[in-house]
Amino acid sequence: MTSEKSPFIKKKVVCPVCGAQAENRFIMPKSYMEKDIESDRHPAGFKWLDESFKNIHPSFYHFWHCPPCKYTASQRDFLKPTEDANSNFSQLKKYFLRMQPMQKQIVQLLGSDINYDKMNFAMAMNLHFLTIFIQELVPGEIRDTSKLGSYYLRTGWLLREQKAKSDPDGLLAGFETFAEKLSKLWPELPKSEADCLKKAAGYYELAYQGHPRYADIVTASDLMILIADIYLRAGDSKKAMQSLNTVMQTGQKFRAKQQELIRLEKEAGNLTIARKAQIDAQGNRINVLMEKAGEMRQSIIKERMVEQEPKAVQTIEKLTAQGLDTEEIREKLKELNFEPQLITKLLGEPKKKKFLGLF
Ligand SMILES: [Zn+2]
Repeated sequence: MTSEKSPFIKKKVVCPVCGAQAENRFIMPKSYMEKDIESDRHPAGFKWLDESFKNIHPSFYHFWHCPPCKYTASQRDFLKPTEDANSNFSQLKKYFLRMQPMQKQIVQLLGSDINYDKMNFAMAMNLHFLTIFIQELVPGEIRDTSKLGSYYLRTGWLLREQKAKSDPDGLLAGFETFAEKLSKLWPELPKSEADCLKKAAGYYELAYQGHPRYADIVTASDLMILIADIYLRAGDSKKAMQSLNTVMQTGQKFRAKQQELIRLEKEAGNLTIARKAQIDAQGNRINVLMEKAGEMRQSIIKERMVEQEPKAVQTIEKLTAQGLDTEEIREKLKELNFEPQLITKLLGEPKKKKFLGLF
């Protein structure tokens, strides 16, 4: 790369908090493409139009920063902080300008060493943490849960990438030492990818419940599938399963309501072809998401079955030796929380229950 060649457009922008002129940078539009998108939306690779930029990692430049006051936010929030109808920026600014000494110390620690000309994993982590810490300065009920979900998810991705590269520059090891120290001031600081993912899923669950961005059922169900994927990656298959069940249940309820709506509009004589097509299109989008949730559930169950099978076989042998019959063993296995599909696989379908003289 020659010294003048760069994919960046530098721009002096007014910091929305302190009003200082802060130089920040855009990446030239359409100069790269994301590739190898993972199931939690992580772009595992980038394809630059100009190959000589291939060592520049776009994710490192997602957040903008003001060196004098250390305010850090996404490019969009930095440029147009109050554009969203539900923006909490005015509150955020108030809390940021009135930080307690300990909070100021954390912001100073994270923001003391940022240099976009020498951007690397460690600085990118600090920018991500600054953005999180600043958004979390405001009380829970006015936090932007959707943004926080995405900030934690992005932070988890950085840790995943650095680990996948086997920490070539030792910056992951450095981060771990730094995080250990920082967590004395900031005890909730996430220190691993799994920590970040659990935080992301937790905030996204709050967003699902109340954030205006997910008011529409299709967007909300899509988010819930993402939450399930994140929980799976964080090793919590129980919570993943609960999220997938939510998708199935709300989807079924929604479909039933739609059928009722069609029936009522038909009766009233105002169901036009266009209206019917509109209802069907939304129903189809929900069906696609329910199918996806169903597939994810099935794959979790399969994995659990593989895990549980040796123990289940052992238990069956033990109970058989004790003289229990198949149906008694089936009840015992249910009590021990073995997967119903595994019980059927090992013991066959249950015999039909006898009706005790009811007829
Ligand atoms: Zn500033």
